[in-house]
Parts: sequence; C-alpha cells; structure tokens
Amino acid sequence: MDTTTSLDGLVCVDCATTHDPAAAPRRCPDCGGVLRASYDAASAGVTRESLAGARFDGLARFGDLLPFPAEALVTLDEGTTPLIPAPEFAAELGVGAVYVKDEGANPTGTTADRGTAFAVTAARDHGAEKVALPTTGDAGQSAAAYAARAGLDSEAFVPTRSTFVAKAMTNVHGGDMSVVEGRYPDAVDAFEGAMSDEDNAGWHSLAPFDTPYRHEGAKTLLFEVVEQLDWEVPDAVVHPTGHGLGVVGSHLAAEQLQAAGLVDDAPALHVAQPEHCAPVVAADDAGDDDTEEWERPDTLIGALEVPDPAGGALALDAVRDTGGWAVGASDDDALEAAVQLNAGGIEASATGGVGAAAARELADGGHLGSDDTVVLVNPVAGAKENDVLRSHLMRKGV
Ligand SMILES: [Zn+2]
Repeated sequence: MDTTTSLDGLVCVDCATTHDPAAAPRRCPDCGGVLRASYDAASAGVTRESLAGARFDGLARFGDLLPFPAEALVTLDEGTTPLIPAPEFAAELGVGAVYVKDEGANPTGTTADRGTAFAVTAARDHGAEKVALPTTGDAGQSAAAYAARAGLDSEAFVPTRSTFVAKAMTNVHGGDMSVVEGRYPDAVDAFEGAMSDEDNAGWHSLAPFDTPYRHEGAKTLLFEVVEQLDWEVPDAVVHPTGHGLGVVGSHLAAEQLQAAGLVDDAPALHVAQPEHCAPVVAADDAGDDDTEEWERPDTLIGALEVPDPAGGALALDAVRDTGGWAVGASDDDALEAAVQLNAGGIEASATGGVGAAAARELADGGHLGSDDTVVLVNPVAGAKENDVLRSHLMRKGV
C-alpha cells in the first residue's frame, strides 16, 4: 500500500493494538474492534501557511494529515464544499452566526464521498475484485462511482425504501445492487450473508466502521470548516447522524488539528437524529456507553433510519468528549427546517433538516450562546430528497 510517511498505523479503539495497514483491511484482527488511523503529528509538516499555499481543490491538499498521498488517491475531486452563511436562521436561533456546510456539493451529492474515496483506495491496494456495502442508499451510489473510477466492481445492498435517485444512479455508474425487501437491517443481513460466502472472497467491505477509512475520510469536513472560517474553531457543529461517521470523523479531525498545532480547541459536536430512530440520543440520555438497537424505527428521513449504529459508542464518546448534546427532532420539524433553509436559497435536504431542527432545540434549551458560531452539516443534496420535501409542502397545502 502506498501510504503517507506520517501514518503510523491503524490502532484498535478497543484493545489499543497497532496494526500495519497492509495487514488489516477491516476491523482489528485481534479483537474485532474498530480501527482508526494514527499519525506522527510532528512529521506531518502541515501548517496554516502550507495550506494557504495549497490549492483549495480536493482532499489531497491536506497531505500528510491523510493516510494516502495525492498520487495514490482514488478521487473524483470530492470535498472543498461550500460553507454558506444562513443569517436569518442565525437571528432566529439567537446566535452569532450559522453556516451550512453543504455536502450535497460532493461528486455524488453526499458527504459519503469523502470516505468512499479513501475506502476504495484501500480496497484497490488490498487487491479487491469488488467492493460491497449495506446502505440506506446514498453511500451505495457513492461506492458505485468510486469503484468505477478505480476499475473495481461494486455491489450495494439497499432496502426497498431507498430513494429512486440513489438506486438509479448506482446502476448508472455500473454498480450491482441487491434491493432487499424490508428495512435497512434486512439489507445488512443480506450483505453479511454475501460477505461470508467463500465464493465472494475477493469482496472488500465498505460498511461503516468495518473499513478504517470511511470515518477517516469524514474527518476532512472539519479540516475544511476551520480553514474556511480563517482558523476560527466554530462553537458548535451539528451532525445529522445515522451510523455516526460524520460526528466521529469530526472528533478525529479535532484531535488531529490540535495535535498538529493548527488549532487550540475542539467545537462542541452535536448529534441530531430523527426522534423515532434515535439510538444515540437514547443512549446519551440513559448515560450508557454504547447504543442499543432501536426497536421500531419510523421516520420519513430514510437516510438516517439506522436502528443499530455501527459507530454508536464512538459517536457518544465524540459528544461527551467535546461537551456536545445528542438531540432528537420530529420529522415534521426537520422537514419544516429544511424547507425554511431552502426558502433562504440553501438547498438543504430533509436529512440536513434534522440538524437544523436539532439546532433550534439546542438554542431553546440554552445550549447555544448569543455569540456562538454554529455549523449545520447538510449531509446530502436537497435535490436527492426532492420527493419528501415536496410532499411536506403539499401536506401543508402549498
Ligand atoms: Zn483490538
């Protein structure tokens, strides 16, 4: 594998053993724990000045803060997404500033592109024939695109309720797809069955936290945010959360930025979930260290209908370590907040609306200050969830 010189290895979050990336394609070979990349901060050599001289075009500009060098990366020029001011929303919340980090501007319209770029790079270097994953939809489209770029086959296991856009574009990129009757956990079962089939030994998992590189790619979002804010660390970042890739990625980013001496502190990282599929919120409220499977998930926000988050414990750790909160939002509030952002010109998705609605809850609860800078992550393009947004308007009689 072609890795950066600053990458020290992959460390297991459970048993703390360090593994050679070339020998650990998935989870910890010793205990099955999630792996995270570890870096020698001193050798990374990335400074505010060096970044100021690097073109703002894609993930590779972060150089030795990443696992793979520019020339090795499978890329579609992901990242470098807009950070859009939302002054009316800031006034309503009573905070200093609100920005929307619009991840819909990524190559396949989703923040998942950051992680699939790294994970497909690793899969190719491990000699994979095919990459496979269970997904609520958007990450399957992303994986199909990046696999196509790398010359690999791909297969997404999706529940029937996935959006038409995600399913159609997965096929258009040349990806295989298994549409599984039922909900997301049924797609996970089908994926795991296929992965354990010895005929599929050449398959490489891109499931969340099953590869070390999707949460690793997700960290680049906060790198960009602090740079876009001229190295002001925002007070709060609100992540609409399914498996937890986004919030865990931002936690990794905050740690690495501080270790590299680029910033002095971390933002409060907040988790936002639909109130009828909110396992991280429930675990946080109960004071538990890990999530339990949500028994009856029921939300219109299909991208976040993940009842058993693979990164539940790590998401809880991110929230607690940074002084954040885990907040549930009703579907109606989420859709209303998304429509409100769209009315201001920002093409937020229903998924992004969950974060905006949660920010309103945080403000009402006194958890945001009058001078705070708040970043709302819009994880997926509004245009990919046009049907649910339009339905909301029609229910209101618009
Ligand atoms: Zn381990």
